[in-house]
Amino acid sequence: MNTHPLAIIGSGPAGYTAAIYAARDQLAPVIFTGVESGGQLMYTTEVENFPGFPEGILGPKLMADLRAQAERFGAKIQDQHVTAVDLSARPFKLWTKLPQGTSPEIFKNGSPEEIQAVVGQVRQLEPNLLAQSIIISTGATAIVLKVPGEEKLFGRGVSTCAVCDAPFYKDKTVFVVGGGDSAMEDSLALTKFASSVTIIHRRTEFRASKIMVERVLSSDKIKVLWNSTLEEIIGQETVEKIIINENGTRREYLAQGLFYAIGHRPVTDIFVGQLALDKGYIVTPRSIIKPGLDLAASLINEQGLITYPSRTSVDGVFAAGDVVDIRYRQAVTAAGQGCEAALDAERWLEMNRTT
Ligand code: NAP
Repeated sequence: MNTHPLAIIGSGPAGYTAAIYAARDQLAPVIFTGVESGGQLMYTTEVENFPGFPEGILGPKLMADLRAQAERFGAKIQDQHVTAVDLSARPFKLWTKLPQGTSPEIFKNGSPEEIQAVVGQVRQLEPNLLAQSIIISTGATAIVLKVPGEEKLFGRGVSTCAVCDAPFYKDKTVFVVGGGDSAMEDSLALTKFASSVTIIHRRTEFRASKIMVERVLSSDKIKVLWNSTLEEIIGQETVEKIIINENGTRREYLAQGLFYAIGHRPVTDIFVGQLALDKGYIVTPRSIIKPGLDLAASLINEQGLITYPSRTSVDGVFAAGDVVDIRYRQAVTAAGQGCEAALDAERWLEMNRTT
């Protein structure tokens, strides 16, 4: 079996940007897009904050263009889900197989234990691809509640990114679900546009940092519904109403926007036990968390530099985008990190040509 210089796992802005850079460097990277190519932007309508598009661009169109750009330079696009990897020795092994009778849905809906069991079975089979280096850009999924109406109205009033979508809610009535820092930050961002912002929180106390909570509670545009849970989202074309269970009583509210801020889940099930993770996120020397600082400290060279800032705890494996990023999670930051990972991988391959 041939060993490819570089495999890229994941096809959001980070993966496709890495593929564009690596393909232009003649590495002919193999990019595994997953079953649903394109990542989170495939579920977005208008994207107005990606530089270079003064009129905005539809999320799926942006991703189709990034894909075409990667293909133009020779990236080998595989519309397949990587089901297991072995990063314990080089060349690294990748699988796209599934045990007979197993549906790819397991990776979306299975429990961590079920997924680990499948990964273990897959690794008993012959691998599909060998790669000298890997860039992981599998992203993160925003956690949603799966209430009735949500799927139909996603991107039509239901959003998981206030930073991206707040300007669309000028003078509108919006709700935010959550009680952490993201919910506070999103609510404050929305007050710049919306006429009213209401936070729906399941407990009677926020878990967010004190300073953020104080800002939220002192805003005259933000109300809080404590002890409340979202039960349903209603609307024909866009969100019109929501049903909330407030202290045990079902109440209907008029609403034009509903933002989820209840956390993200990085897509790293197949990497468990293979490289350093922190709360599921891949650790690199640039992770803004203690394990990231520790990895950075261990990798500083004699010149006081870190040679491959996007590397993971495994030499030759790099990571980029939301799978690493607990802070920014923007299409443009993911694309920038994809570029960095490709440049690091190119340099690493050059230095490790004979190994
Ligand atoms: P988080 O801190 O995990 O908070 C998630 C919130 O969603 C919690 O209030 C939780 O409620 C609620 N929630 C979770 N599942 C729910 C469900 N099924 N139904 C209803 N509510 C649910 O997540 P985050 O706010 O996204 O923050 C993630 C990390 O990034 C945190 O470490 C945070 O400090 C950091 N962050 C920092 C900043 C900043 O510094 N400016 C900004 C954003 C995020 P409970 O409280 O009841 O569990």
